[in-house]
Amino acid sequence: MTSSQHHAAPVGRFAPSPTGRMHLGNVFAALISWLSARKKGGKWILRIEDLDPQRSRMEYARQIEDDLDWLGLDWDEGGVDGKGPDGPYCQSLRSDIYEEELEKLRASGLTYPCFCTRADIMATQAPHESDGRMVYAGTCRPARLGGELSLQAGAGRQPRAIRLFVPDTTIRFTDRLFGPQEVNLARHCGDFTVRRGDGAWAYQLAVVADDARMGVTEVVRGCDLLLSSAQQIYLYSLLGYPAPEFAHFPLLCNAAGQRLSKRDSSLSLEQLRKDYTPSHLIGLLAWHAGLLPEPFPISASGLLPLFSWSALPAVKTITTD
Ligand code: GLU
Repeated sequence: MTSSQHHAAPVGRFAPSPTGRMHLGNVFAALISWLSARKKGGKWILRIEDLDPQRSRMEYARQIEDDLDWLGLDWDEGGVDGKGPDGPYCQSLRSDIYEEELEKLRASGLTYPCFCTRADIMATQAPHESDGRMVYAGTCRPARLGGELSLQAGAGRQPRAIRLFVPDTTIRFTDRLFGPQEVNLARHCGDFTVRRGDGAWAYQLAVVADDARMGVTEVVRGCDLLLSSAQQIYLYSLLGYPAPEFAHFPLLCNAAGQRLSKRDSSLSLEQLRKDYTPSHLIGLLAWHAGLLPEPFPISASGLLPLFSWSALPAVKTITTD
C-alpha cells in the first residue's frame, strides 16, 4: 500500500470477540468506528475474533450481527458468512494465514519456544488494561537468538508458547485522539506470545495479520488497547506491512470507574433492546461522546453529519451513570 492510499476513503473495522451478548461499551465501540469510517465515505468490516475456542460461540457472533442490524450499523465485508474479497472473516478459519505470518517471524530468527508453566493463557484475548498486564521476564529467551539454538533449548519437551523477541526499543506513534505516544516494548510487555503451545493463535499476531491483509487503514477501538498498538506496530514492521492509523476513544465506565463489561447484565443488549429504541440508545451514546448537547433520539446515519473526532474528549473514561 502506498502512503497516498491512506488519503483515499478509509477502511475501518469492528472486531468483536463472540464471548457473550454485546453490552453498552461494545455498542459504543461499534458506533465510533462505524462513524469514523462512514464519515469519510469509507468501508467498514466486521471481523469475528473467535480465537479462543473455549470462550467463543457462533451463536454469539450471529447475535452480534442481529444487534448491529438493529442499531443500523451496516458492514460492507465480513461477518459470520464472510462476504468480501479478504475472507474468511472469522479468525478461527484463518489459521493458514497466521501460519504464513509466523513463518516470516521464524525465518527472521526472532521467535523462540517458551516452557514456562504459567505461559500466557490469556494470549488469545486482547489485553484490555483493566485485566492486568504481564511483563515476561525472558526466562526462556536463548542466549543467542536464531533457529538452531532456540530449537535445541527445549529438546523433547512441548513448549507452552512461541514468543517473539522484543528489543529494548521505544515505539513512537501518534494516536488520533490521544496524540503522541512512546512505549518501550521491553518494559511494557517483554517478549510476547505469538502462538500458544496448544496451537491457539495470539491476539497480537492475528489482529495485525488480519488488519494488514484486509487493507484496514484505521484501527478505532477503546483506549485500554492504546499500548497494544506499540506491539502491533512492531509486528507490522517485522511482517513488512505499513501500519494503519490508530484512533482510540474513551471507555465507558460505571460510577465506580470500572469498564462496562459483559458481567453487567442491565447493560447487555438483551435488556437495552427492551428499554430503548435504536435511536434512543444511539442518542444517549452520542451525548456521552460529546457529539450531542442532549441525549435526543437520532439514527446512526443521522449522526454522521455531527460526527467529528475533535468533538470527542481526550480522556480515558466517560462515566455513564
Ligand atoms: N476482539 C478484541 C476485543 O473485543 C478487539 C480488539 C481490537 O479492536 O483490536 O477486545
